[in-house]
Amino acid sequence: MKLVLASGNRGKLREFREAFGSQLASVSELMDPIEVEENAESFAGNALLKARAIYNRLGSEYLVIADDSGISVPLLGGAPGIYSARYAGEGADDKANLRKLIDELKKREVERTPAYYTAAIAIVGEKGEYVVHGWMHGDVIDEARGEKGFGYDPIFIPEGYDRTLGELDESIKSEISHRAKAIKLARPLIEMLRK
Ligand code: IMP
Repeated sequence: MKLVLASGNRGKLREFREAFGSQLASVSELMDPIEVEENAESFAGNALLKARAIYNRLGSEYLVIADDSGISVPLLGGAPGIYSARYAGEGADDKANLRKLIDELKKREVERTPAYYTAAIAIVGEKGEYVVHGWMHGDVIDEARGEKGFGYDPIFIPEGYDRTLGELDESIKSEISHRAKAIKLARPLIEMLRK
C-alpha cells in the first residue's frame, strides 16, 4: 500500500515525512493538481473531502492522508475556524489573515483572549475512512511578536508559556502543536491500514 499526502505544501510534507518516513509521496509527484472545493462545515469534513478526491483519482493501491487546520477564537464566535486560510478574503495570504484577526481584537479592545488551534487528519483507503484530531490551546494577543512559525503563530501564546509561537523555539511547537498531536494518533492507524 503506497502512502500519499494530499498536499503539495512543502512545510506540511516535511512535518508528515518526519513521522511517516521518506516513503510518503506528495500528491504533486503523482498527478496534476485538482481543485477540491473545501465546502464542508468542519475541519474533519474538509480533510475528508481532500483525501477522498485524491483517493478516487489514484485508486485502491494508495492510502491517502489529508489534513485541514485552523485557529478558533471563542470570543469571536469561533472565527476564523475553518475559514482560517481565507479569513481576510479568498486568496488572502497569511499576513493579511493575521492582520485581520488582530484588527478584530483591537476593534473590541481585547488585548488577550483564549484561542485554540485544531488539526484534523483524514486517512482514506480501501479499508475505509478515518479521521483523527489534535488541539493546542492558549491565548491570542493583539500584537504580532516574533518571526518563527507561520500563519497566526506570532499572536498565539500556548498554554503554559509566556511567549508567542513566533518567539518560541520551533522544537517546542513541534512537540505541543495540534498537528503533532493528530499525527501521533494517525501513526498507529496508518500502520494498521497499510498491512
Ligand atoms: P489549511 O492549509 O487548509 O489546513 O489551512 C490552514 C490555515 O490555518 C493556515 O492558512 C493558517 O492560517 C492556519 N494555521 C493552521 N495551522 C497553523 C499553525 O500551526 N500555525 C499558524 N497558523 C496555522
